[in-house]
Amino acid sequence: MEKDAVSKLKYLLVVGDGMADYPIPELGNITPLQAAHKPNMDAIASKGRNGLLKTVPDSMKPGSDVAILSVLGFDPRRFYTGRGAFEAAARGIHLKEKDVAFRGNLITEKHGKLVDYSAGHITSEDSTQLIEAVKKACEKPGEIEFYSGLDYRHFLIMRNAPLSLQIECTPPHDAIGAEISAILPKSKSSEAEKTASLLRDAIYKSKEILESHPVNIARQKNGKNSGNMIWPWGGGEKPRMPSFKERYGLKAAVISAVDLVKGIGFYTGMQVIDVPGATGREDTNYEGKAEAALKALEDNDLVFVHVEAPDEAGHVKDYKLKVKTIEDLDKRLLGRIMEGLKEPYAIAVLPDHPTPIKIGTHTREPVPFAVQSPLLEADGMQKFDEFSAKNGGFGLVKQDGVVSLLLSSTRSCKQPKTPSGSN
Ligand SMILES: [Zn+2]
Repeated sequence: MEKDAVSKLKYLLVVGDGMADYPIPELGNITPLQAAHKPNMDAIASKGRNGLLKTVPDSMKPGSDVAILSVLGFDPRRFYTGRGAFEAAARGIHLKEKDVAFRGNLITEKHGKLVDYSAGHITSEDSTQLIEAVKKACEKPGEIEFYSGLDYRHFLIMRNAPLSLQIECTPPHDAIGAEISAILPKSKSSEAEKTASLLRDAIYKSKEILESHPVNIARQKNGKNSGNMIWPWGGGEKPRMPSFKERYGLKAAVISAVDLVKGIGFYTGMQVIDVPGATGREDTNYEGKAEAALKALEDNDLVFVHVEAPDEAGHVKDYKLKVKTIEDLDKRLLGRIMEGLKEPYAIAVLPDHPTPIKIGTHTREPVPFAVQSPLLEADGMQKFDEFSAKNGGFGLVKQDGVVSLLLSSTRSCKQPKTPSGSN
């Protein structure tokens, strides 16, 4: 390809959250990626090069917060401060130095136990009124503040609380059935104790206010779980990270339904694009996201498109749904983008982490990835999946790999096989 055309190359990074999996007996011992009809992903794999990407460092917990930083080439060991800061940014809540943003779930407490991390998947209509009530009673501006978010996902901001990261909080979805008194925020140092006790007070005070709130009385009457307690977790300071432009010299945009991903986009200086009907579930607006990506490529060099639906299918352990979300992503999003692109492009497709159906949660195994670019030699793989990628030309690549490979793929025809790494 001519030098000119290469300099005009557009870049696409497409992530199907949690797509990777283990072989499933009901599918004849193949994975959802192997079972899905996905001609576009397979075309990228067969025309391009494949490999495995280690997105979760051994010292960290597997989740999209850590894994997506890795996918974008920002080593989470350096740049991850906690998911709260990213999610708050997507809701327009900005932090100053020494502030800490916690996720504040509305949960259901019964007889001293945590029974529901989402208060019956409470809607924003109900939860906004509950958070307003908590705000009125518990907020101390400049010290502790409350902000409502979407559905059961709200925020608690500790201002000027530099020691908040020395507080251990329990993610509520990991503690269903636990005694509240056993999982309260704990300080890991005596200096942090004051802040931890503020959090514990807020938890108990919120219960007093919410228990008899008219919204909850009505929910109970209708057989729904109450949102009767606020539960802080996932605290994070303002991350200090270079922008995508500083890092790679490219102007980038992100398209996602998920606050966490939008917040990572915000802190890396990407254009954050909202698409109507993008839900983060299997009913998401795939076509709308494809159109938005094509439009965003007109004035950006790179567009990162994230689809949450396969991860959700993994969490509910529905293998048929997972196969369907992969097929929809392939046909209704990826296919449309590839068809609509007039300019030469390089594209990478991958999951952020596995969310195996068998266990219903995230795991840390390296994920398959495929990169196709006009200047990159194919490695002979035919399919995009966990097993094929193992034999791909890139081998096992560490955290900061995929974007660099996507970009460098336009600068050299032959990528040396990257040696296997252990972190
Ligand atoms: Zn997940």
